[in-house]
Amino acid sequence: MPETVDFYREILDNLYDGIFFVNMDGCITYWNKGAVSLTGYSATDVAGRNYCDIFQPLDKHGKHLCENDNYPFSRVSDISTLTEIEAYICHKEGHLLPISIRIAPMREVGDQYVVAVEIYSSSSPRYAMRQRLEELQELAMHDPLTGIANRRFVEINLAARLEEFKRYGYGFSVMFIDADNFKTINDTHGHNVGDRILKMIGTTIANSLRSFDIVGRWGGEEFVVLLIHTKDEDLFKLADRLRRMIENSTLTLDNGETLKVTVSAGTAAAQAGDTVGSLIERADKLMFESKRRGRNQVSIELQQE
Ligand code: GH3
Ligand code: MG
Ligand code: MG
Repeated sequence: MPETVDFYREILDNLYDGIFFVNMDGCITYWNKGAVSLTGYSATDVAGRNYCDIFQPLDKHGKHLCENDNYPFSRVSDISTLTEIEAYICHKEGHLLPISIRIAPMREVGDQYVVAVEIYSSSSPRYAMRQRLEELQELAMHDPLTGIANRRFVEINLAARLEEFKRYGYGFSVMFIDADNFKTINDTHGHNVGDRILKMIGTTIANSLRSFDIVGRWGGEEFVVLLIHTKDEDLFKLADRLRRMIENSTLTLDNGETLKVTVSAGTAAAQAGDTVGSLIERADKLMFESKRRGRNQVSIELQQE
């Protein structure tokens, strides 16, 4: 009965969460309004396309889910029980989005097979970030272009961390990040696209950090991250994971063209006698070391005992 179909469609469309249907091959056949607002993609953008191609879902380590044969993602038709996965997907604006995905087993509807997929935002980090942003806006410490914190916020936090380090010995590290060949991106695609890429980088970093880490735009195409409570032996892994998250972000332009960007980074741990300036300078030098070694990498300096 078409009226019944319309009735259910309307309910699905007005749900806050994203719902979509795929056929046996993983191609999208239905896409609700919630999916549009979560992912930035319109129903026309996604119609008939495979959802792996659109989202490029990653697991929490930054690995591609759809390239793993054992994973339900690559073969939705094999799923026999309700499956829930925490993942990162690519928003249309390019940044990675932490998301919970729930896939229902396939059903036969008339002469078609339908798999229903629900996506909803992993609310806790987003909620924490929204709260943090409201505070930042109040204090004029947020960067309007990227929506993350600005340099002043990072400097104030860095000074507080150094004070804590000197008094109580709580170590932390500074990661200096610079976008690779950014001038070429501007020259090729225009300043406006460059701005969107900066926003994509900032949002991906903010969405990939642990709740207590801090990120801000330092200026131009440079970002600074404060990595707190990190063991020396985990530092490289953590910094390199951020680099990989950015490498896997994809901005889709209106003409369908996709853009990627890489960053070079340097990570330095706080040492006795450091000032804000000296610590940033060491991280910046290590970032240049990454540029010199060919870009898209992280150089690290471990804390000396
Ligand atoms: P490298 O890999 O050595 O870092 O190369 P690069 O091209 O990124 O380095 P360079 O410092 O020569 O260029 C940085 C560019 O970033 C130049 C500047 O126009 C651009 N840029 C700085 N701030 C902004 C901004 O707010 N928006 C946009 N679109 N571009 C910006
Ligand atoms: Mg630069
Ligand atoms: Mg650069």
